Amino acid sequence: MKLIDAHIHLSDPEYAAHTDQLVKEARDANVVALVSNSMDLDTCKGSLMLAEKHPGLVYPALGIHPWNVNVLKENELEETVALIREQTRKKAVVAIGEIGLDYKYETVWEKQMMVFEKMLHLGEELELPVIIHSRGTTAQIVDMLPSYRLKRVLLHWFSHPIGALYKAVDHGYSITEGPPVAYSDGIRDVVKKVPLTNLLTETDGPVTYRKAPYGGKRTSPAFISTVVQSIAEVKRMAVADVAEQIAKNFEEFFNIKLG
Ligand SMILES: [Zn+2]
Repeated sequence: MKLIDAHIHLSDPEYAAHTDQLVKEARDANVVALVSNSMDLDTCKGSLMLAEKHPGLVYPALGIHPWNVNVLKENELEETVALIREQTRKKAVVAIGEIGLDYKYETVWEKQMMVFEKMLHLGEELELPVIIHSRGTTAQIVDMLPSYRLKRVLLHWFSHPIGALYKAVDHGYSITEGPPVAYSDGIRDVVKKVPLTNLLTETDGPVTYRKAPYGGKRTSPAFISTVVQSIAEVKRMAVADVAEQIAKNFEEFFNIKLG
């Protein structure tokens, strides 16, 4: 069985002392691909380094997260854009991410929008898929994306509203779901309603999950086996069939052939 963690922050400072251990845990748990999402210039560089260190397992997504727009250093946006262009020429980047809009950080709304639009334009220009964070902004984002010529769109940790899920699926967008599918009725409802062909799995580590069965343990790519089991339960399918379809979705979405 080939399992996929399509959204983790492997270059997050919280993981810095543990990346070798996390990669080992991934391999031991049959996780064959990790998409290392980035938040700012430093974590972009970190994702690239980890991908270079673990070829065929770690794949870098580069971008600026809405939480980071407020603390961007001088020229950081321009330097990040230049890095993404340069690394795309080297075919070292698999997606623009994590980018988006977060309603909780409304105070820097204009700046969030400016950075998000810049990242979306970059996705168009470089013909890369985009990985999107949309807390409190999902309906708005799903309505704004069709005006961009985007290759592929992944809405990460999709929670609500369900109307936006149907629109997203109509546009051919994909979503990721992670550990909460084991305990959250809302997420289980999304998983029930999304076609399996539009679904990928994630951990979003180092985000920590306090509820059972995770109990606040350090988030590991190994959690993906529980995620896939929970999806299989909701979809009333065999675990192996769910895993196989998600691996196929991963290959198509990121244009990567799994070994
Ligand atoms: Zn994330």
